Amino acid sequence: MAVKRVAVIGAGISGLVSTKTCLEEGIEPVCFEQTEQIGGIWVTSDRRVPGTETRGAIYDCLITNSSKEMMCFSDYPFDPSVPPFIKGNQVLSYYQGYAKQFDLEPRIRFNTRVIRVEPTKDFDMTGRWHVKSQGPCGEVDEEVFDAVMVCSGLHNKSYIPSFPGMDDFKGDIVHSCDFRNGEKYAGKTIVVVGGAHSAGDVAVDTSMHAKMTYLSMKSGTTVLPRAGPGGVPIDAYINRRVRGLVPLALWKMWLQSFISYRLNMESLGLKSERPLFSSTSIMVNDLIGVRIWCGALQAKPNIARLTESDVIFVDGTVVENVDVVIFATGYEFKFPFIDRSILQESYKDLELYWHIFPPRLSRQTLAMVGATNSAGARGPIYELQARLAARVFKGLVELPCQERMLEDVARRKNIFKKLFDNHKIRFAPIPYCDMLAAKVGCLPRFIDLLKSDPILAFKFIFGPNYPPFYRLVGPHAWPGARHAIMKAEYNTVNPTRTRIVKNPGTDQSSLFFMFLLVVFPLCIFMMIFVMVIGT
Ligand code: FAD
Repeated sequence: MAVKRVAVIGAGISGLVSTKTCLEEGIEPVCFEQTEQIGGIWVTSDRRVPGTETRGAIYDCLITNSSKEMMCFSDYPFDPSVPPFIKGNQVLSYYQGYAKQFDLEPRIRFNTRVIRVEPTKDFDMTGRWHVKSQGPCGEVDEEVFDAVMVCSGLHNKSYIPSFPGMDDFKGDIVHSCDFRNGEKYAGKTIVVVGGAHSAGDVAVDTSMHAKMTYLSMKSGTTVLPRAGPGGVPIDAYINRRVRGLVPLALWKMWLQSFISYRLNMESLGLKSERPLFSSTSIMVNDLIGVRIWCGALQAKPNIARLTESDVIFVDGTVVENVDVVIFATGYEFKFPFIDRSILQESYKDLELYWHIFPPRLSRQTLAMVGATNSAGARGPIYELQARLAARVFKGLVELPCQERMLEDVARRKNIFKKLFDNHKIRFAPIPYCDMLAAKVGCLPRFIDLLKSDPILAFKFIFGPNYPPFYRLVGPHAWPGARHAIMKAEYNTVNPTRTRIVKNPGTDQSSLFFMFLLVVFPLCIFMMIFVMVIGT
């Protein structure tokens, strides 16, 4: 049956891009958003949505951990004057601009929460869904949709682990979703718990004001700077197709030495107990080392127990008279509106083919957009997920049989379990994005690029994987894509070039960067070429 109307649940990043994608595919989207505005976690509203735990997860000091040219949508670049790493309110403005540009707001029903999604009785024939929603005045509405895109996010409920003695503790226990800035903690003794981005930000910010801040981590972390070699943003440095041509062992060695060159994580007490690519916690942070060096912040192991006033760690050390314990320990995701046989509420159980489609449904008319936790920027990944989902709904892309989908789900789960010893969905973005793009039909062929536009072909292999690469060809290609790719590097560095340096010279690390990502793979190419000619 032809899919004409789609229910999109949520108007965060994944909901916005799903709504826009439906429109460009000629499908009518109805986007339900339980709050009064778009943006999801990027809205710093302190108002709890009645009956839910959802609220903004962003604090005042937050600066994106991905650079703007890598986190934009493929056909909507950031304003060139915006610096490479931006604050939460600028991120929100970008998404508001996106909604305006593609006229998405009229498609969104604000203050309307989806309370139930169920297959219709004739689902096996039609693939349709009953969607029950509750409007601003409590009125309940029920409609039938041809398909559903679940975009309700992964940050639905704050997660706080439990420790012995927590109930006896007389100080405050808060979650990072309630943290706005460190000023409130002036003169206090703070223990921050967690090893990822938010934990680092909260610990650094409180350490500027508190009497003393301690950062407690279960198994340490891996700290990445925002700037990579030669001042290239680290995500733009890492996410290049050419990386696949560098032997993994060499690449690991190089990244490890780059990280250690910037920060001796062992001597700062931060170092992860797991190997670099299997580290369960990663933190993009440029200040944590200095805060530890100046004695305002100290790393600690996991908490063993709490007493009325103290925190006791597993190594037996004690911090006395703790005023506040801030848990930056992440979130749980919840799908209260749908049956657990379709969407499960833990990474361990969640079954999604290509991290999008519940494989046990008899008809593929439901997609989860935004379920991945991949390294790097999320927006461009969600965009490809939405583009693929819309094409599956339209019958333009066919999914394999249930057995093959379940096999693939199990295979992916095993990979994550082996690598991280947990079920978090974390992977390098390019292979996944290229796979989705190939299915959508928007992955450029290197050989075609080489023939028609060698400079672009060079950038495709050696340059950062800027999202507009997925708008050069295929459905809904964007005429501005080539220009956006060509300008991206300039738009990254130019906003901060506010004083002209007459003799800039060459940065040593840039030379190494050139060697690893350009010269080395070229040499390998040439060696293979010579060998092939010789035989
Ligand atoms: P959300 O933003 O959670 O949006 C979900 C929306 O669905 C919300 O508006 C919610 O109200 C609505 N909703 C939920 N349930 C219902 C319902 N039943 N009915 C109607 N509406 C509903 N990513 C990056 O790429 N770069 C970064 O630098 C970065 N920094 C981050 C920093 C922090 C502190 C956090 C927490 C995350 C960060 N992320 C970053 C990841 C970020 O989560 C994603 O980029 C993205 O914002 C998730 O968008 P989403 O739309 O999937 O989910």
